[in-house]
Amino acid sequence: MHKKILPVSLLAIAIIAAVIAGCTTTPASPSSDTQNVTGNANGIESGKTIAVGIEVKYPPYSYIDKDGKPQGFDIESAKWIAEDQGLNIEFRTVEWDGIIPALLAKKIDMVYSGMTITPERAEKVAFSDIYWVTDQGIAVKKNSPLTLDDVMSGKAKIGTQRGSTAEGWIRENLIGKGILDSGKLVLYDNFPFAITDLESGRIDAAMYDTPFVKKNLKGRDLEFLGIVENTEENYAVAVRNEDIELLDMLNTGLKNLKASPKWAELVKKYELE
Ligand code: GLN
Repeated sequence: MHKKILPVSLLAIAIIAAVIAGCTTTPASPSSDTQNVTGNANGIESGKTIAVGIEVKYPPYSYIDKDGKPQGFDIESAKWIAEDQGLNIEFRTVEWDGIIPALLAKKIDMVYSGMTITPERAEKVAFSDIYWVTDQGIAVKKNSPLTLDDVMSGKAKIGTQRGSTAEGWIRENLIGKGILDSGKLVLYDNFPFAITDLESGRIDAAMYDTPFVKKNLKGRDLEFLGIVENTEENYAVAVRNEDIELLDMLNTGLKNLKASPKWAELVKKYELE
């Protein structure tokens, strides 16, 4: 298991920082005194750049495009909120499995990447208000004889991403209840690897948050089998427990974003409804 932080393209960061900071021409470069300024009206150290941790392959919420730029529903939301709240932000990609440790180790300052609130995570970090709700979904090969009931009754070898709520759900509800043999759960560093194995027949089903599963099916010999009812993935932004002001600003920014026309525009653009 690797826990590496991969800075996204410096240019992309510079451009984003410049946009967020409201600079029109030159990319923001920290001036020598930015670290010493004591604080703005919001209590966040003036000039501080907030590092937003994202998963590199989680469309439509967060991903890096072919030019190395962060894109997605969560990326655009974070940029809008940062502008609304006067925050400087930059994006950093982190492997999902190590994203909470990276937050606690201050390698990043928040996680904005379709993170579901779970009791275990809430013991370690603070969550913003919920901004999106979805359910787990299952994909299989086109014309697979498997039904959703078959998958739910342990008849399929299931693949998913390590450290995800899908893994947690399978462990708790299938393996933990003796429905699925633990050898029939296959974990991957990234969900797209599960999709590759599903296509080649090494696993029978792949499970993840529904919008992401659907994004991965396009142009492949795979189909969406169905939603796992009542999995209820409540997405929120995570920050360190002590960063109360930042959390407050995020919640205000989220509220403002949801009340603005930008919200509907983003929902439509990323085909979330
Ligand atoms: N919602 C899922 C989770 O919280 C997946 C999020 C992700 O892969 N970025 O684990």
